[in-house]
Amino acid sequence: MSEKHSKPWFDPPAALNDGSKVAIIGGGISGLMMASYLSKHFEITLIEEKKSIMAGASGNPAAILDPYIALNQSIEKKFYLKAFEYAVDFYNTLPEDVFHKCGLLKLPKDKKEQRRFNKLSEQYPTTVMQKTKEGLFFPNAGYINPKKLGAYLSNNFETLLNSKVTKITNSDKGKWILIHHPGNERLLVDAVIICNSYNSKIFEQSNDLKFDEVSGQISYIKTEKVIDKIYCSDGYLTPAIEIENGYANICGATFDRDDIKDINDISHQKNIQKSPIPLNSSKILGGRREIRAMTNDHLPVCGALPKFNEYQRLYKDLHHGPNHKEFDTASYHSGLYISAGLGSRGFLTAPLLSDYLTSLIRDCKKPIKSQIQHALHPARFMIRKLSKK
Ligand SMILES: Cc1cc2nc3c(=O)[nH]c(=O)nc-3n(C[C@H](O)[C@H](O)[C@H](O)COP(=O)(O)OP(=O)(O)OC[C@H]3O[C@@H](n4cnc5c(N)ncnc54)[C@H](O)[C@@H]3O)c2cc1C
Repeated sequence: MSEKHSKPWFDPPAALNDGSKVAIIGGGISGLMMASYLSKHFEITLIEEKKSIMAGASGNPAAILDPYIALNQSIEKKFYLKAFEYAVDFYNTLPEDVFHKCGLLKLPKDKKEQRRFNKLSEQYPTTVMQKTKEGLFFPNAGYINPKKLGAYLSNNFETLLNSKVTKITNSDKGKWILIHHPGNERLLVDAVIICNSYNSKIFEQSNDLKFDEVSGQISYIKTEKVIDKIYCSDGYLTPAIEIENGYANICGATFDRDDIKDINDISHQKNIQKSPIPLNSSKILGGRREIRAMTNDHLPVCGALPKFNEYQRLYKDLHHGPNHKEFDTASYHSGLYISAGLGSRGFLTAPLLSDYLTSLIRDCKKPIKSQIQHALHPARFMIRKLSKK
């Protein structure tokens, strides 16, 4: 049986014609990277609720490229390794003030982790990681300046700021109407990409998707120590980076599942305690707190948006097994796509996700294998549920 018929629930939708009008909701790394890739083929309007781009989770003074590493052979490992290599190639083409390739050193917490590091270094290519006497060194890793990246990416498309999209509806001519505020204005487009993180649940078409909202704080530190690379263990510490009023090392980050909204001293102390380099006599200059959108399988949600009600109907017999009968092909909202749930590594995954979604929308060669495409598919959670006896 061909792969097409073995998993019809993951069949891709029809391609969108080049030159179509596409709206992107959300001006974080997900929306901006997507807009930058798609603007080579489509007419893009990006809509952002806040008064500037990169003002949500993507707005920290620095975003590190911290590779996810694992000993197993999981899809997660395959996806994040591909994404890391892809991101390094992508960011290397950008000006030096956007991407600082300073390298990243992971320090083991104890002897057990040291042994794990030894095994890991045998599994990964030396272009990705090298074993040193201190730990695992990633020579191609570094940190990004999100504000400069945002300015760099947003050259080739229109951006509407201070515009909150509250509703997406079908027009009678098969197009999409976006209602945005203030002013109850309408934007008519051929396709929409939902990139507004955990807020993607506000739209009727995507509210079946569940994202955990995990708040996190970073701390701006003044230390006498000269830090020339990124250090990681439980937490991380960067070289000195430009902040609003000078320079600071960025130390992070907390993962707070309770409803903490403000920058607070307890979280600063947690960051300092987790720092891979002791920060005893350092001064806290400030910090930033934002919310990550996480999925329960730790992979982003990226692809065409399914008609979830139709999926329930089409695949209700899936618990009898995938070969129980010839199942119908997948049913999507035509011209509606999503890229959200980028978790704690959005800067690492956004370039690959954007290339992938562009190739899916245009129906051309994909940068990732079908196994990974299925692992990112927005209907995967529902399919898993329907497959259970
Ligand atoms: C403390 C902390 C530290 C982190 N450090 C790193 C790091 O070092 N490296 C890394 O790779 N990742 C890091 N992350 C994770 C990273 O920030 C996220 O993965 C990434 O920012 C997600 O990007 P996004 O575009 O999906 O979301 P966001 O950046 O949050 O962007 C979503 C945008 O959508 C807008 N929006 C929402 N609703 C609407 C609407 N209805 N209409 C219009 N606009 C709307 C929002 O205003 C926002 O600008 C960190 C996260 C936190 C919280």
